[in-house]
Amino acid sequence: NGAIIVDEFGRTSVEDIYAAGDCATIQNIVTGQDSYVPLATGANKLGRIVGENLAGANNSFQGSLGSSCIKVMDMEAASTGMTESQAQNLGINYKAKFISDFNQTNYYPGRDKIYVKLVYDADTKIILGGQVAGFKDSVQRCNVIAAAIFGKLTTNQLGMLDLCYAPPFARTWDVLNVAGNVCK
Ligand SMILES: Cc1cc2nc3c(=O)[nH]c(=O)nc-3n(C[C@H](O)[C@H](O)[C@H](O)COP(=O)(O)OP(=O)(O)OC[C@H]3O[C@@H](n4cnc5c(N)ncnc54)[C@H](O)[C@@H]3O)c2cc1C
Repeated sequence: NGAIIVDEFGRTSVEDIYAAGDCATIQNIVTGQDSYVPLATGANKLGRIVGENLAGANNSFQGSLGSSCIKVMDMEAASTGMTESQAQNLGINYKAKFISDFNQTNYYPGRDKIYVKLVYDADTKIILGGQVAGFKDSVQRCNVIAAAIFGKLTTNQLGMLDLCYAPPFARTWDVLNVAGNVCK
């Protein structure tokens, strides 16, 4: 699409010329590909590293997950890591599961639906991607999936991950525990 291809140091193909942000690619650590994610998150992080490197450091960026989110009225949606169609296109032996559950207990005001889709390696069960949609706290659930992907957690580990519980915040088995357990 015309974006400048850079490596994990922000280096372009021209010596001593660096790029970061909306004009440049960013390396996706799940797909292993150069990706175009024109968001402030990657622009700031790779931009900082480019600045450090221009000042003499030799720092590399740990990579993007392509995490993004949106709010429409009371609804939230977010995505991180690989989508099912990306896994398909890359020929990965993946599985995907979609669940619906609730953000919190029914006896505390504010309970609403949350929908979670997990994409994971069919052999190793390592989580490759996740999308979360629904109401309150959906985006923050997706952030937990981002950490799980970065840490190479399996669906089994997510299913038993010690996530916070109190009535206003979750159910005893958080929606992400449920999603992990469904993907066993
Ligand atoms: C409406 C909107 C909402 C967004 N919301 C989000 C969000 O919620 N979350 C998120 O992560 N990202 C969001 N983004 C994307 C985010 O703003 C960009 O990814 C980020 O700002 C890119 O940073 P950058 O430094 O690469 O470019 P910019 O922030 O665009 O900075 C480029 C700068 O270069 C200057 N410039 C251009 N040409 C020249 C020139 N010839 N000489 C000198 N200066 C020049 C421009 O004036 C500008 O100040 C949003 C973008 C838009 C437009």
